[in-house]
Amino acid sequence: GTAQIGVTGLAVMGRNLARNFARNGFRVAVHNRTTAKTDALIEEFGGEGDFVAAHTPEEFVAALERPRRLMVMVKAGDPTDAVIREFVPLLEAGDVVIDGGNAHFEDTRRRERELREHGIHFVGVGISGGEEGALEGPSIMPGGSKESYASLGPMLERIAARAQDGTPCTTHIGPDGAGHFVKMVHNGIEYADMQLIAEAYDLLRSVAGYSPARIAETFRGWNTGRLDSYLIEITAEVLAHTDAATGKPFVDVVQDRAEQKGTGRWTVQTALDLGVPVSGIAEAVFARSLSGHADLREAARTLPGPTASVLGEAEAAAFADRVEQALYASKVVSYAQGFHQIRAGGEAYGWDIDLGGVASIWRAGCIIRAAFLDRIRAAYDSRPGLVSLLLDPRFARETGTAQDDWRAVVAEAARQGVPTPGFAAALAYYDGLRAGRLPAALTQGQRDFFGAHTYRRTDREGSFHTLWGGDRSEVPAG
Ligand code: NDP
Repeated sequence: GTAQIGVTGLAVMGRNLARNFARNGFRVAVHNRTTAKTDALIEEFGGEGDFVAAHTPEEFVAALERPRRLMVMVKAGDPTDAVIREFVPLLEAGDVVIDGGNAHFEDTRRRERELREHGIHFVGVGISGGEEGALEGPSIMPGGSKESYASLGPMLERIAARAQDGTPCTTHIGPDGAGHFVKMVHNGIEYADMQLIAEAYDLLRSVAGYSPARIAETFRGWNTGRLDSYLIEITAEVLAHTDAATGKPFVDVVQDRAEQKGTGRWTVQTALDLGVPVSGIAEAVFARSLSGHADLREAARTLPGPTASVLGEAEAAAFADRVEQALYASKVVSYAQGFHQIRAGGEAYGWDIDLGGVASIWRAGCIIRAAFLDRIRAAYDSRPGLVSLLLDPRFARETGTAQDDWRAVVAEAARQGVPTPGFAAALAYYDGLRAGRLPAALTQGQRDFFGAHTYRRTDREGSFHTLWGGDRSEVPAG
């Protein structure tokens, strides 16, 4: 065969990635279980480049140059395993199987192990940017062996998005599941970003008294500054949109129940296992689940509490500026938490992830693309050992400057009864980190009281237990 890459699974993502490869001059073999999709791609887009249509797995494998590069773009989960099982007997040592679906990184680790026994490189690749990104240039997060990246990387660099400075938005993240892990945390950060923007909207609406159209204008203004990002940009679009059927703001005719496909949940589950406090991401996932409990919410509407009262015009504008500060500072916290999780995952799984490199490839193509990521990249490039983004001098200065407004916004939200779990959790994390002493000392005392779990002292080495049920004298433990 002569095709440089093959794509099997030609739904929206696979079809667009295949077209992206072809538009960049690669010879692309295409295959789909239902052959009508393969024919439809050739029919509609065959003129865009050099495609080879394959109607059976055997034809598909035969169309590829060796060592083969075969990209699987099917539904994540069991279908991915089924497709791998189908293709492995047709492949040989040295071939590269790429899974571009939204796989859980533990599945990717398992698949990588299984295929390694056959001498086949398995490369789990996180791809962000949705349908349009797949076609025009996504952010691509490949895991797998270094050797596989040598063969695949240059092709991915051609189809990936490019940051403003021209750097392709892909890099070898690390072995086995590293790419899918980083993609997972990307999605978790995306949840947190979206939740924080939603809280800002809620406050501008119910406390500042702004209309959705005016909030769209406010967000457009913010988008010319340090909050410049794809998510703020599309939020302004959504808020400015009017429902054709009713003439009302679109946001007022949509049911307020947020759905989720699970990557935010995976991020939090994994963070719990790693012991990393990603409270911003967790609050975002919980906020979506709270919104979905329609019966509970209906029953609870009788609970007493304040109804937000709208500020006067002059105060409203000043409040909006404070919300911008709170949003920015909370966003810095979310990213600090997400990058902490990536660092911890890298340590736990032996991946050696370059955090500056991760920030670099999120600068374009993906959903969380933002001007802000350039600063994160710079922070890690100048201090690769940085333990938290919050400790980068520039971010520390900015959150320090923002904090009065941040506190005022969280306090005002509490006073007015507007739920801001994202802003509040971010602020609590910030204060938790900076506290000299935490009440965790008391927690240790409680644990020792009811479970003899022991504690460490501030003034001496070793573990101790107090005989709470006896004379309350202290004994060394263990
Ligand atoms: P879907 O997730 O809807 O999957 C449909 C494709 O999977 C079809 O080609 C289908 O073939 C194939 N398929 C399903 N089951 C099997 C099976 N048992 N054997 C063989 N083929 C099977 O497609 P998307 O394009 O939306 O997504 C592809 C992957 O990319 C998913 O893992 C998704 O999570 C991920 N992804 C999606 C993004 C998006 O924005 N949609 C963004 C980033 C990643 P057939 O036509 O024969 O039914």
